[in-house]
Amino acid sequence: MKPRQRQDPSLFLRQIGPDQYLYSMTLEQKVLAVEEVFVELDQEIARFQEWSSLHCKWGCGKCCFKADIEATVLEFLPFAHYLYINGQASDWLERIKQSDAFICHILNPTRDGAGLCTEYPHRGLICRLFGFSARTNKYGAKELVTCEIIKTEQAKAYEQASQQVAKQEGAVPLMHNYYLKLHAIDHELAHTFYPINQAIRRAIETVLAWYAYRIN
Ligand code: SF4
Repeated sequence: MKPRQRQDPSLFLRQIGPDQYLYSMTLEQKVLAVEEVFVELDQEIARFQEWSSLHCKWGCGKCCFKADIEATVLEFLPFAHYLYINGQASDWLERIKQSDAFICHILNPTRDGAGLCTEYPHRGLICRLFGFSARTNKYGAKELVTCEIIKTEQAKAYEQASQQVAKQEGAVPLMHNYYLKLHAIDHELAHTFYPINQAIRRAIETVLAWYAYRIN
């Protein structure tokens, strides 16, 4: 498949007050910018997995069953845009609105294969970060953020990786850096965390509203 070409990244100016202008992006530009952040993160995760040897258990997906996963609207904008382009956004929105499930709506617990995410290429930032990233603790040291299954079933590799990360000897994606990258794309859509299905619903609503009201 031919790689998708980067859209013309030219920004348009939006007037926000007398003589004040703000550089703003179209929705499509935001989607592409988020996808670029995801590509960069996926590459950084691949390098981390290579040196640490940590990996997800085949077909696991247990972390997606957590009922308290939170996400921002912006990280699901590419998914919502993909739904819109494929004529599925309105159906998805109705299904999410009618459901009071806490578990991610994109998850299919009966799915066979590598994982249970039905939209793996369009999963959110938290879905990519969890398991293979680090946060900075109050003492400024990096701590791996991963799941109990990796911690217990790959205990030796996990311990070694944790020590290397803490000693700054092993490169690892930093959660904070990636949230900052999203903030730089759209602060409004990136600064509030919602339960994951609410974030997905708001992302779909944002895309539908954009296409309903845009002038051209
Ligand atoms: S989007 Fe996919 S990876 Fe993320 S929580 Fe939902 S099912 Fe899991």
